[in-house]
Amino acid sequence: MGNDETRSKLILFDLDGTLYLEGKLFPGVPELISKIRECPKLDYGFLTNNSTIGPVQYYEKLKRLGLELELRNVVTSCEASCLMLHGMGLGPEVYLLGTKVFRDYMESQGFKHSYEDAKALLIAFDTELTYQKLTEATRLVLKGLPVVASHPDPICPGDLPDAGMLLEYFKAAKPGTIIQGIAGKPHHWLVELIEQKFGVDRREIIMVGDRVNTDMRFAQNFDMRSLMVLNGVPQPPLGDVKPTRIMPRIAQMLDEFWPENLGWC
Ligand SMILES: [Mg+2]
Repeated sequence: MGNDETRSKLILFDLDGTLYLEGKLFPGVPELISKIRECPKLDYGFLTNNSTIGPVQYYEKLKRLGLELELRNVVTSCEASCLMLHGMGLGPEVYLLGTKVFRDYMESQGFKHSYEDAKALLIAFDTELTYQKLTEATRLVLKGLPVVASHPDPICPGDLPDAGMLLEYFKAAKPGTIIQGIAGKPHHWLVELIEQKFGVDRREIIMVGDRVNTDMRFAQNFDMRSLMVLNGVPQPPLGDVKPTRIMPRIAQMLDEFWPENLGWC
């Protein structure tokens, strides 16, 4: 984290396990968002590595849950994947290993799903995975195409196999295969996207999340302040990751862990 003088301007919330679980908001979350909206010094964003759906679908989902937001408040690893592909000069033909919604989103941003002409393989969280998709993607790995991913999580909350498990699968296909880029938390494409989108410096961000190796490592990698929230789960081992503060429940951000009360803004 930057020096103590840095004023926090943006609160980034992870979603699953942080603001809700199994489609149900934790107590205090709507009140917390309202309180931030009333605070002129603070902006906020909802940040997810989940790439099964795009930003518009996340916006609609959060609205349905009862949260106050605009589309601009949502950031997913889909947008970060676009920035990464552009930054690495890959595409526009890419094999998009993901859901139909994911493919549609990427195509709306100028990429083209292709097997024959693919310049790279992009691995996302594909809940519509089939043996045919695995076969095509495997053949592209064997051909030596660059392999990149929307995010690294092996398991999604709910014990669902996620993109990170597929990365291991494809590494097994051809010895020496390396993953050339990962877009989501805890990697740098996402922080560059957030700085552009919200007009802040990384040191002005407070990252609120429940996962050590994505949320908290993301904050640590890029000099953000971090609030780790447990929400009733026992504290996992932290290893070399040091959250700025650990908060038992998200509702405590309304008072004890409110950024002004911590002297952060
Ligand atoms: Mg989470």
